[in-house]
Amino acid sequence: MPDEPAAGSSRVADPECLFCRIVAGEIPAARVHEDETVIAIRDIAPRAPTHVLFLPREHIVSAAELTAADGPMLGQLFGAAAAFARAEGLTDAGYRIVTNVGRWGGQTVDHLHLHLLGGRSMTWPPG
Ligand code: 5GP
Ligand code: ZN
Repeated sequence: MPDEPAAGSSRVADPECLFCRIVAGEIPAARVHEDETVIAIRDIAPRAPTHVLFLPREHIVSAAELTAADGPMLGQLFGAAAAFARAEGLTDAGYRIVTNVGRWGGQTVDHLHLHLLGGRSMTWPPG
């Protein structure tokens, strides 16, 4: 597996990217967590009682761009989501973490993010 981002992908902050603008503080969002690698914001259109998005500060288009070199960042991303879920008391009942990729995957913002959905029972498979 390559250690470098795939040829043609760019991880430079994109002035057109909504989540890069939220990371930069240009667009307000309800932040529930931030560290040097990750920020977490409440989804503007929540689909569950708890619906939080965990995104790397770095502009990565989607999970389709990830390589083994992203392991530390992904550890931070999932770790932040797990810690938030624990703090919110979601862990015992369970919750869902999902990331959409591309058009058929339902992705509407092209900056990698995990959805943390909790506070209700989820169905499977997703629509
Ligand atoms: P996707 O469809 O790419 O998987 O997820 C994008 C998510 O971003 C959607 O759930 C959508 O509601 C959320 N979203 C879109 N615009 C904004 C915004 O301006 N602020 C916040 N906090 N969430 C947003
Ligand atoms: Zn971005």
